[in-house]
Amino acid sequence: MITIREELPSETFIRSERRILMRSWNAQQFAIDAILSEGFGAAFNVTSECFAKMSRTLTCVDGRTTSGGKIAIPGAGVLMDDEGREKTAKLLKKAGVKISGVRPHKKCGAENRAIRLLKESGASEADAQAEIKRRYEHMAYLLEVEVKAPAAMKNLHFHNERSLIISGVDHMDPSGFLDFHPFLINARFMPSIQDVLETVPFCLDIAFGDNGYGKEHFLRRMRQPGMRDDRSKFLIVIIGNPNPTKQDFCCHALREKLAPYLAAYKDLVNIVEYPVPKELLT
Ligand SMILES: [Zn+2]
Repeated sequence: MITIREELPSETFIRSERRILMRSWNAQQFAIDAILSEGFGAAFNVTSECFAKMSRTLTCVDGRTTSGGKIAIPGAGVLMDDEGREKTAKLLKKAGVKISGVRPHKKCGAENRAIRLLKESGASEADAQAEIKRRYEHMAYLLEVEVKAPAAMKNLHFHNERSLIISGVDHMDPSGFLDFHPFLINARFMPSIQDVLETVPFCLDIAFGDNGYGKEHFLRRMRQPGMRDDRSKFLIVIIGNPNPTKQDFCCHALREKLAPYLAAYKDLVNIVEYPVPKELLT
């Protein structure tokens, strides 16, 4: 059995994980094809259960975290300042989302980025680690819950996300769908729309970088004979309210705002919208 290792992985380990990664690409093709041909709602037979007001864990946007029932923001809030976490906690409480705990995960890109930023502003390794711990605890304190043990991860050294769901409705969790491992941003609980927009290239850099499938892989798949290239592009699904009020989330408006943030990967990304039917949101 392959396990997540903290030390540098061996050549054999890398090769076996690469094989798992490629299998995951093929397995996810069914989900992506169904979304493209039938639309998100029909493809997943989306019911009100997906949007149920259940108790959820606050965790990271990383698609490899598998906890059922999650609310996802980068690093569960570890990249934000105190004010950002306060805003997130307030938004969660206002929406009536019951949070059961704050759950970090191993090999977290958001956490690593926060550590790098702290070090760049002069913190030692020990100070940076202590600050990260404080931030998780701060988030948990604001939500009146505990910091849980790190999330169970798919047995992958590499990222297997080839899609991203940006959810503009309060409750939405795709983790119940088999063989579909999107990044997930629960945009309603980010302090601002700017934070949402900046999280998108953060996810794309992972997918198109050395720890994900990589840009070359996407391009190779797009060039495959007989393959419509949108089937191999990175898929972004924007889930929004069909009749948005000022605080709500309009798929189309977000799509337009998103355009400049996709510039680096313009021809490699495909966007679909799913305005959630009103009856599913009650
Ligand atoms: Zn993470």
